[in-house]
Amino acid sequence: MQTITSSSKAIELEDKYGAHNYHPLPVVLAKGEGVFLWDVEGKKYYDFLSAYSAVNQGHCHPRIKNTLIEQAGILTLTSRAFHNDVLGPFEKYITEYFGFDKVLPMNTGAEGVETAIKIARKWGYEKKGVEENMAKIIVAENNFHGRTTTIISFSNDENARKNFGPYTGGFLKIPYDNVEALENALQDPNVVAFLVEPIQGEAGVYTPSENYIKKAKEVCSEKNVLLIADEIQTGIARTGSLLAVCGNCSCQGHCEQQASYTKPDMLILGKAISGGFYPVSAVLADNEIMNVIKPGQHGSTFGGNPLGAKVAMTALEVVKDENLAKNARELGEIFRERMGKMVERYAIAKLVRGKGLLNAVVINDTEESTTAWDICIRLAENGLLAKPTHGNIIRFAPPLVMTEDQIHECCDIIEHVIAEFDNK
Ligand SMILES: *Cc1c(COP(=O)(O)O)cnc(C)c1O
Repeated sequence: MQTITSSSKAIELEDKYGAHNYHPLPVVLAKGEGVFLWDVEGKKYYDFLSAYSAVNQGHCHPRIKNTLIEQAGILTLTSRAFHNDVLGPFEKYITEYFGFDKVLPMNTGAEGVETAIKIARKWGYEKKGVEENMAKIIVAENNFHGRTTTIISFSNDENARKNFGPYTGGFLKIPYDNVEALENALQDPNVVAFLVEPIQGEAGVYTPSENYIKKAKEVCSEKNVLLIADEIQTGIARTGSLLAVCGNCSCQGHCEQQASYTKPDMLILGKAISGGFYPVSAVLADNEIMNVIKPGQHGSTFGGNPLGAKVAMTALEVVKDENLAKNARELGEIFRERMGKMVERYAIAKLVRGKGLLNAVVINDTEESTTAWDICIRLAENGLLAKPTHGNIIRFAPPLVMTEDQIHECCDIIEHVIAEFDNK
């Protein structure tokens, strides 16, 4: 294997030998620890993407690393043709952690979403009595749920969709954060589920009105329709509570006692569920829903493997033991307060929005402009890594193990760069 000694060499190799399905910032990372990343040349950065919120626990968390190493020397994969001695304890742990009867473990987020769609359809036919092949699932405009052919079928991002048809049918699209539109769509008796992100991360951290998910759940329940929360990005303490559906609560348990909590009928988790060490995703639901799945009807060779299961358990323990939800909540408030002042001061920054440590600054330029990209390049030069999403929006989502001093230092860097662009 060729050793990489310069960023330009690494970029050249990726360009020549890899499919061009991403457009990364020109930074080649070689090491990570906590909130920091280092490039090949040894330059240190604050990470403000956290691998799209997969490393909430910080890079190379020592406890998760030790679990991975230990389990890797004991047993990694058996397939589900046999039982293994980690799966049961993991299933007990994660269902108690989030307050559901059962879990179905998969690997990637998109697989989790596919799993939820399949369970919802099957539930619709077998429990709700929808006529075969007629089930419909409501989704929101500007959603992001992954990259499979079915999932991109109900995306409205042309880049994600175009020339990948024919598309999977059975989806109804409504505007996000609009309960009336949801109520109208729910008039269709063939609707079995509403699949929604409690905050739309990829779309640009669109944060809906306070009681959107609570009201959505109410109107869905009235029509015997399942509310499926995709918390792959918002879950695991990112938004200042264990889950975004917990609402205004930073308790470290599942929040059933809290008035602000809305229990979805199905919960999809991925990304930070394993702290960035290993792909693990999960769909959680209670028995009357999950029990529609019988042997042979769904699965995955790696899903529920002992290595992933062990890693995920430790990653979830870390979230509780280190009070990451509380930290995300407190630092998020500091971040938005400082960014709010910045937005008032510099015309180039239009607004800041978000929850916990999932935030975005909207740049005052067109979606087609390169301003946000150019700002991210300058941020990188100043030691902070963030990436534009949808042209003029920059998402800021550091690992949740950040300290108060560090978040202030990062706000200084962002302000400094924004001031530079404001003068241009
Ligand atoms: C990242 C993401 C997915 C897809 O997860 P993958 O692991 O990339 O397949 C699905 N939904 C949401 C909300 C996400 O942020």
